[in-house]
Amino acid sequence: VWGNCLQVIRESIGEQSYKTWFEPIVPTSLVNNVLTIQVPSQFFYEWLEEHYVSLLKKVIFQELGSEGRLEYSIIVDRGNAANKPQTVNLPTKKIPQAVVNSYQPEQQVIRNPFESKTIDRNYLNSQLNPSYVFENYIEGDCNRLARSAGYAVANKPGTTSFNPLMVYGGVGLGKTHLVQAIGNHIKSHAPEKFVLYVSSEKFVNQFVESVKTNSMQDFANFYLLVDILIIDDVQFLSGKEKTQEMFFHIFNHLHQSGKQIIMTSDCPPRDLKGLEERLLSRFKWGLTADLQSPDFETRMAIIQKKMQSDGIDIPENVIEYLAYSVDTNVRELEGVLISLIAQSSLNRKEIDLELAKNALKHIIEDVETEVNLDFIQKTVAEYFNVTLDSLKAKTRKKEIVTARQVAMYFAKEYTSHSLKSIGYHFGGRDHSTVIHSVQTVSDLIDTDKKFKASIQELQKKFKSKNS
Ligand code: ADP
Ligand code: MG
Repeated sequence: VWGNCLQVIRESIGEQSYKTWFEPIVPTSLVNNVLTIQVPSQFFYEWLEEHYVSLLKKVIFQELGSEGRLEYSIIVDRGNAANKPQTVNLPTKKIPQAVVNSYQPEQQVIRNPFESKTIDRNYLNSQLNPSYVFENYIEGDCNRLARSAGYAVANKPGTTSFNPLMVYGGVGLGKTHLVQAIGNHIKSHAPEKFVLYVSSEKFVNQFVESVKTNSMQDFANFYLLVDILIIDDVQFLSGKEKTQEMFFHIFNHLHQSGKQIIMTSDCPPRDLKGLEERLLSRFKWGLTADLQSPDFETRMAIIQKKMQSDGIDIPENVIEYLAYSVDTNVRELEGVLISLIAQSSLNRKEIDLELAKNALKHIIEDVETEVNLDFIQKTVAEYFNVTLDSLKAKTRKKEIVTARQVAMYFAKEYTSHSLKSIGYHFGGRDHSTVIHSVQTVSDLIDTDKKFKASIQELQKKFKSKNS
């Protein structure tokens, strides 16, 4: 039974979370539809309850039916007290014993929101995740416009010129968090307004269902009740013409009655292939704002905030290391943090640089096949016959300064690191030093033939690695 559960779980969450949180679980018994699983620690248990409770309910329900229950047995923390230093403050939350021992998965009541013509709006669920709020949405250069537009909309839905508000950006950059923060803000400041969050995927599925059951009018009527419609990942509507037609109709109606529409997409509207022109032109009525990858400072702030809200202390140098190493998107950054916390808890080790490096190993290995900062530094140091450490040291010897400047130049050229992050990696120099270096190298290339040849030679090494 547990094996089947694991399969479903594995498919629904990322590989890394699965490995971290589900592989260490040992099923111990199954008696009268009660499945008991053994988890390594209290923290582990709390984490599962906090993050995976609905998933667990779902799989237990699927496997054991509505009578199914899940019980945890927790391996008692022993030997923590005397010899092992405990510098990591894990969150200590009191959980009622009844909850610890078991829970009854709720009877799944599936209600068709379209079945009745007279809908009491007070009973409608916004489908918002209450933890996505502005308070924990870190502001940075990468999201300033989108965030402030979102905040304006949150305070005056339907009455700003940002209607619709369209937020776009790559995966894991905070689109869903931001638009849900708008929804939550409105809900708490103007509770009489009906806010609805829906993913485009769900919207499509509901629509298809309503076509099958011949209840398209009910479907439309339901959406016309909404005061603030948040529709996530509209790229998913592409190619679905009938759904787009319905959306167009709803959009027009809501917009005309001064209702706020908020959308997200993984690319700018002009690149949304497979979406009808008349719909795209509507999107341009309001404001389109993008989210960029967070820069080094923002990543630092995000980690600090997460740690603070989880009640966990980690040393500054570890935060810097993580912020420096994981520069793709916020979701990945969070994934790394979670696995770091888990490893620290499982191995009863404090979080330090060594543990962090370990936790990141698989990610770093991935990037080593392309040109990254480390590779650039190594190659340039070798080429100029200086040590790797000297690039990061304070020394101002001429040949080292040149090598350092060249390495910075290539870092700017071949990686997506910000100037700040590059400076950080060269012994904590500031961004103006990096700008100066890049400028110096560019000037030398223009004026010094021999120097230019060396740069070209190095360039070849990076290019061959890249292709
Ligand atoms: P997207 O919808 O763009 O794929 P999400 O909104 O799901 O991204 O964000 C991924 C994760 O990163 C979420 O857990 C979210 O809370 C977090 N996150 C994204 N941006 C920020 C930010 N600026 N501050 C704090 N957390 C953020
Ligand atoms: Mg999203």
